[in-house]
Amino acid sequence: MKENNTDNDNLPKRPSNFIRDIIDNDLETRKYEGRVQTRFPPEPNGYLHIGHAKSICLNFGLAQSYNGKCNLRFDDTNPTKEEEEYVNSIKEDVRWLGFSWGEKEFYASDYFEQLYEWAEQLITQGQAYVDDLTAEQIREYRGTLTAPGISSPYRDRSVEENLDLFRRMRAGEFPDGSRVLRAKIDMASGNINMRDPVMYRVLHARHHRTGDKWNIYPMYDWAHGQSDSVEKITHSICTLEFEDHRPLYEWFVNALGIYAPQQIEFARLNLTYTVMSKRKFLILVNEKHVAGWDDPRMPTISGMRRRGYTPEAIRNFCDRIGIAKRDSLVDVAMLEHAVREDLNKTAPRYMAVLKPLKVVITNYPEGQVEELDAVNNPEDPGQGIRKVPFSRELYIEQDDFREDAPKKYFRLAPGQEVRLRYAYYITCHNIVKDSTGNIVEVHCTYDPLTRGGDSPDGRKVKGTIHWVSAAHAVQAEVRQYDRLFNVSDLDAMEGDFRDYLNPDSLEIISDCKLEPNLADVKAGDRMQFERLGYFCVDKDSTSEKLVFNRTVALRDSWAKIEKNMNGN
Ligand code: ATP
Ligand code: MG
Repeated sequence: MKENNTDNDNLPKRPSNFIRDIIDNDLETRKYEGRVQTRFPPEPNGYLHIGHAKSICLNFGLAQSYNGKCNLRFDDTNPTKEEEEYVNSIKEDVRWLGFSWGEKEFYASDYFEQLYEWAEQLITQGQAYVDDLTAEQIREYRGTLTAPGISSPYRDRSVEENLDLFRRMRAGEFPDGSRVLRAKIDMASGNINMRDPVMYRVLHARHHRTGDKWNIYPMYDWAHGQSDSVEKITHSICTLEFEDHRPLYEWFVNALGIYAPQQIEFARLNLTYTVMSKRKFLILVNEKHVAGWDDPRMPTISGMRRRGYTPEAIRNFCDRIGIAKRDSLVDVAMLEHAVREDLNKTAPRYMAVLKPLKVVITNYPEGQVEELDAVNNPEDPGQGIRKVPFSRELYIEQDDFREDAPKKYFRLAPGQEVRLRYAYYITCHNIVKDSTGNIVEVHCTYDPLTRGGDSPDGRKVKGTIHWVSAAHAVQAEVRQYDRLFNVSDLDAMEGDFRDYLNPDSLEIISDCKLEPNLADVKAGDRMQFERLGYFCVDKDSTSEKLVFNRTVALRDSWAKIEKNMNGN
C-alpha cells in the first residue's frame, strides 16, 4: 500500500507520466519517508510565460495529488537583473493559475549566509579555492568538449590563504570581477560543468532583499541544489538543459554531507509562432514591439490573462500536452482550442457589430421598439435569457452584405432573405450609396410573422446574421490580435527573432456597435460575440470608452486536426 498516495477525490485526476512513476516508486520504497516535496523556482528577472505555467502545473499538481507540498522559491542570486516588480508579478500569476504555496514564499537569498558557511567548509576540506584569473582566462583554461581544461596557477593555494582571501572577498576588499571562488573538482572531466565551476564572484551590487550586505554573490549552480537541500525537496524537477548540471549538484551535496534531493529533468515547452524566453520578451518590451509584459499578444501569463484566457484553460492545456523526456514543439492551436473549450461552456453570448453597416427596415413602424428574447448560453441553459431591443434602424457587419453576391453567399444581398438572429426574416430591396459610390445604407423589409426567427409557413433561409439596434447601440473599441510572429518554428530560423515579428499582429477597430446589455461591463469580463469569437474587456476600458480584446476567434483549427487524426 502506498501510504501517502491518497489521490484526493476532489482533485482532478491527472494522466500518468514518467515523473509520477518515479514518485510512486519512491513512495513504495519509502525513499523520503513517504514525503513529496516539490518546488517551483523562478528567477525574478522577468514575467512568467506559458512554459513556466507548465512547470507550475507540474510541480504544484504533483504536490496536490500526492498530498505533498510545493514551495515557491525565488532563485534570486543575480542582483543586477532582478526586481521586486518581477517577484510580485510571479506571485500574482501563480495565484491566478489557482495554486498556493503555504504560509510564505522562499528566497535563495535567505540562504546566503548558510551558503557562505558551506563555501568555507569546502575550502577547509580542500575542495574549493580562490582564483585570480580573469573571467576570460577562466573560459580559455576550461578547455572544450574535445580538449581537457588546464589548471589555474592558483588552484593549489593553501586552505589558510583561500580562507583569508574568501573572507576578504566577502568584506568587500576586492573590485568586481577580480577574484572568484571555484570548486576544486576535475579540470579533465568529460562534463565541462565539473571543470572547477565558479561558486562565487565579487560583485558590489545592491540586492532587492539583502541590500548592500553582500559584496560576493553565489552562482546559480552553487545556490540551486543547496536551496533544494535546505528545503528538503524530495523531487527537484527541472528542464532538460540542467541534466548535465546534475553531477555537479550531487557533487556539492555529497561533499557537504547534507540532505540530497533527487533531480528529475523533463522537456521544456515550446510553442509554434512564439519565442519562449524572458530575455527575448524583455527585448520586445524594452524596444516597444509590444505594449508591455502583459500585452495580449505576449505568451506571458499576464498577457494571456489580459487577453481573456482562463486559468482553467491553461491548466487543461498543460495537462494535455503531458510530460516528456524530449524537446518538442507544441501547436499553439492546441492552446487556443483549450481556451475555446472552456469559454464555450462559461462565456455568455452577446451581439456585437465590429464593422457596422446601417440597415433600415422600411416597413417597420418608426419609433417602435420591441424587446426580443436572446439565449445567454446555448451550452448552459442555466444562464437564462436576456432582452435585446429591436427597432427600425440596425447595424449589421459590412461583411454580411454583398451587392454582387456570389452563388454560395447566403447572407444579405439584393433580393435575398436572411434571418436576423432572435428577430425576424428580412429581405433587401434597395441600396443607398454616397457620391463616391460607397454603400451607406441597405434598405430591407421584414416579415412580421417571423418574430423570434422562425417562419410559420416553414419557409427556410440559409443565412443567419447578427445585428444591433442603432439607437440603442453602445460604442466600443475592439482590439483584434494575430500571431506575434509569422513563422511557426522560430528556433529553426536564421538571424534575429525580431526579423520574424508579424507587422499586422494588432488591428484596432474603433467604431464597433454593441448591444446595450454590454454597457456596464468591467475589465476582465469575458464573453462571446456571436459569430465572431470570444472577447474580454481590457484593463484600458472606461465607462467613457469601452475597450475589448478578441481572446480567440471561433474557428478551431485544432479541433479539425484532432478530427482528422481520429479518422472522422
Ligand atoms: P527563460 O529562459 O524564459 O528565462 P528560465 O528557465 O530561465 O526561462 P526560470 O525562472 O529559471 O526561467 O524558470 C523557473 C522554472 O520554470 C524552472 O524550473 C524552469 O525549468 C521552468 N521553465 C522555464 N521555462 C520553461 C518551459 N518553456 N517549459 C517548462 N518549464 C520551464
Ligand atoms: Mg533562467
